[in-house]
Amino acid sequence: MSDYKLLIDGKLVDGASTMEVVNPATEQVLAICPRGSEQQMDQAVKAAKAAFPAWSRRKVEERRAMLMTLADRIEARQEELARLLTEEQGKPIAEATAEIIYSGAFIRSMASLDLQVKTLEDNETRRVEVHRLPLGVVGAIIPWNFPVLLLTFKVPAALIAGNTVVIKPAPTTPLTSLRLGEIMAEIFPPGVVNIVTDQNDLGAYLTQHPDVAKISFTGSSATGKKVMAAAASTLKRITLELGGNDAAIVLPGADPETVAPGIFGGAFMNAGQVCLAIKRAYVHESIYDQVVDRLAALANAAVVDSGLHQGTTIGPLQNRMQYEKIKDYLEVARKDGRIVAGGEVEDRPGYFIRPTIVADIDDTSRLVAEEQFGPVLPVVKYADPEDALKRANASPWGLGGSVWGSDRQKAREIALQMETGTAWINKHLDFGPNIPFGGAKQSGLGVELAEEGLAEFTQVHVINEAL
Ligand code: NAD
Repeated sequence: MSDYKLLIDGKLVDGASTMEVVNPATEQVLAICPRGSEQQMDQAVKAAKAAFPAWSRRKVEERRAMLMTLADRIEARQEELARLLTEEQGKPIAEATAEIIYSGAFIRSMASLDLQVKTLEDNETRRVEVHRLPLGVVGAIIPWNFPVLLLTFKVPAALIAGNTVVIKPAPTTPLTSLRLGEIMAEIFPPGVVNIVTDQNDLGAYLTQHPDVAKISFTGSSATGKKVMAAAASTLKRITLELGGNDAAIVLPGADPETVAPGIFGGAFMNAGQVCLAIKRAYVHESIYDQVVDRLAALANAAVVDSGLHQGTTIGPLQNRMQYEKIKDYLEVARKDGRIVAGGEVEDRPGYFIRPTIVADIDDTSRLVAEEQFGPVLPVVKYADPEDALKRANASPWGLGGSVWGSDRQKAREIALQMETGTAWINKHLDFGPNIPFGGAKQSGLGVELAEEGLAEFTQVHVINEAL
């Protein structure tokens, strides 16, 4: 038996079986968690389908009020939810608290949006209006790096537009979402929101389910391609937020003292497990050594420890698979470059790896060419900014990128040519619910957040009347 429950058709229920959730800072079992079955996923989809007609016809103000209540209740339980998030995900408590606070803010912001009817023509011969209809049942599939925040990228937008939802959390971080499920059960009518956990085996089932109208997926590019293929069977709508290999380009003339902390923060937040983290830095040869030295000093000063400990700046990797993957990248770093800070695995239980700065490495190394998704940053030297841009763009991914320097015009010129969903200037990782977020190339399909993201939870419905 578990203290946690699935949410199906308004009821908090046990899973068909159970699974263990591990605390990545201790490698001890944190909780026994319910594990859903295909039959329970069917029940959830059926409940969401049954709830859709009444929910979609409800006044938008009523749907909004419920979402605002959800934000209130999450904020009221901020401390407890943040602690649980740190325990299951690993991130420092300050980052977990920020995630919970942002989640409340994202819910409020998305719930405040309204898709107005647009009148295209109104003349002697015809009146043409564009309405937006909800789609039906939305499957929301979430990864393990921001289990709560990424849920709020999807669920409020789906609900305010009039859809109903089945949420499938990541297998290694389901607990905070299940606590949110308890809160949601008190607010929403039965079936409007459902949460079913799995052991990496129900995502595929949900994506091919004939009664699901849309899949909103965040995760790796490899899984995203499977989602796209599965969605084809019933022409489901899909939004895919996938992997990235964000480049930061540091221009000649940039001040290493100000640039290095910005790059460090953009690369090592959440132990580097951020889709939009800086995953490779291209630094001009004139300031290369200073920037590398500064980054190394910041890495050496980082406090790597349990996220619950006061003062920790970098927690453990989230799960064993990711930990093993990053250990492999440390080998690559040793072979292909020069490790100037970090490089070691901490000799203690938990998936701890010190922030690692790798100099004298080039684009042919796997550490530069692939998405490492961990605390290992390659710093590549370049001579010509146009060449750095070409190398930044020579990637199958295109999530984000940034340009750093004091010459604003040159920085803008480079940013405008980055083949990415977002290009920042003198910062990285700045986003918000009013800013559309999506990836170019193999980093995704469609966008989330803002009005553009909300529109993706709807179908265009044209009313064209003869006058
Ligand atoms: P993942 O693709 O392994 O898993 C993501 C989710 O998909 C999990 O809930 C998983 O259970 C589920 N899943 C597994 N197989 C599935 C299938 N066949 N069909 C449908 N769903 C399936 O990704 P992950 O390892 O949890 O997350 C890390 C990746 O996510 C990184 O590549 C990262 O860049 C990316 N990410 C992207 C964004 C973004 O917004 N672009 C945000 C966070 C993470």
